[in-house]
Amino acid sequence: MTRKLIRNGLVVTGDPALGDLSDADVLIENGTIVSIAPQLEIVDAEVIDARNRIVMPGFVDSHRHIWQGALRSVCADGSLVDYVRVIRMHAARFFTAEDMYAVQLHGALEALDAGVTSVTDYCHNLLTRDHAFEAIRGVREAGIRVVWNYGFNYPPQADPSFRTLEDRIDFARELAETEFAQGDALVTLGVAPEETNFAGSPERLSAQFALARELDARVFWHANSGGVGGAAHRDVAAIASLGALASGVTLVHMHDTDEEEWRMVADSGAAVAFTPETELQMGMMWPSTRICEELGIPFGIGTDITSNNSADMFAATRIGLQALRCYYLDSTEKSALPLGTPNSCADAFAWATIGGARALGLEDQIGSLVPGKQADIVLLRTDTIGMVGWDRDHPARTIVQQARPSDVDAVLVAGEFVKRNGQLLGDVGRACELLGAASARVHARIRESGGFDVPLDETIARMQAVSRSEDGKYDFAR
Ligand SMILES: [Zn+2]
Repeated sequence: MTRKLIRNGLVVTGDPALGDLSDADVLIENGTIVSIAPQLEIVDAEVIDARNRIVMPGFVDSHRHIWQGALRSVCADGSLVDYVRVIRMHAARFFTAEDMYAVQLHGALEALDAGVTSVTDYCHNLLTRDHAFEAIRGVREAGIRVVWNYGFNYPPQADPSFRTLEDRIDFARELAETEFAQGDALVTLGVAPEETNFAGSPERLSAQFALARELDARVFWHANSGGVGGAAHRDVAAIASLGALASGVTLVHMHDTDEEEWRMVADSGAAVAFTPETELQMGMMWPSTRICEELGIPFGIGTDITSNNSADMFAATRIGLQALRCYYLDSTEKSALPLGTPNSCADAFAWATIGGARALGLEDQIGSLVPGKQADIVLLRTDTIGMVGWDRDHPARTIVQQARPSDVDAVLVAGEFVKRNGQLLGDVGRACELLGAASARVHARIRESGGFDVPLDETIARMQAVSRSEDGKYDFAR
């Protein structure tokens, strides 16, 4: 048996019954939390000194496309249309399997470095079989907990490797057997079907949801997030009519959802993932957290794409909270003298931890520090230049409004250190070198093809090719 004892920290459990515990200890046995209390008796354990540390559950990022790390900031001034034009219908196809390994390894380490212990990796650029194998290898090597999503989106290509949807469904079955059968607790399988406007037909969409049920894999799905042209899709109603709206589904973005559909979501037990930074930038607007709170719909938040914004969950949480406060305060009576502000930092902390765990369907295992749960734990320094002087009575306020990735002192996943004394234990130098090289290759290929700036009518032709055929075969020289 291996035991670790995290000693004398300010423990923010994220659990309503346990609350915040000052000068408390966390005992871990074989990767599981077994006890949290002040002054635990020292047993035969490795002792970790947590004085001047906040001890908190690791962040759970409920929506991220790790593979876009090689395109960092390319869409930082872009709209949703630009994102589809520049990345999804263009840059995506220039990734090789080798590039996928590099971005996945690096991106998972980047997440861990910033205190993210679990992530939904919506991996929707699986151009070939090897792209999938290498993507999985990269995240697995990093040691992060990940629900790796087999993404059905297939960008337009001159010579697609998969010719039919059935080919890709068969390959997903093969991956489930070869890569996910051994009960590896850290890396599990999810399924990300195509959006309604790319799936082309209800039958095609239905087959992708059916595969997830067959594999007992959670579904993560971009829904009601506005198509190019801004048309509402009523995606929730669409999958409900296919019998696919269920508790094993996490719906992403969802700003364009009417009340009837929200009630359908609540009745089904499905969860939601919001990504405040991309949603604010790209006209997907304010995350609909309040209606989820009112209807009891579980939701988490995520960082989405580093082609737009950072992979920093501190920033995502803070920006999401402040945007929502602005939104709700803007609608209050101008002569009012409001005390307090809509949503607390503790609310936002919950979105980024236990809320994310619910969105991943892993709330029994992660998202809060409770005996019996996995020891996915972050130690935050409180003696750094930006943290010292903090309000010890309200640690969530400091975590959400003040802390940054450089304050992350240590990170444990399933009780194993992946970051310690402010340094990742993985080979960061190698990961950065690999990512730098992959990014340079992808950029070079895009330059050779004429650059990022694809005309909109050309983008629409590519989108039509993708939605009309199962392989998205497209003649780029036409
Ligand atoms: Zn997304």
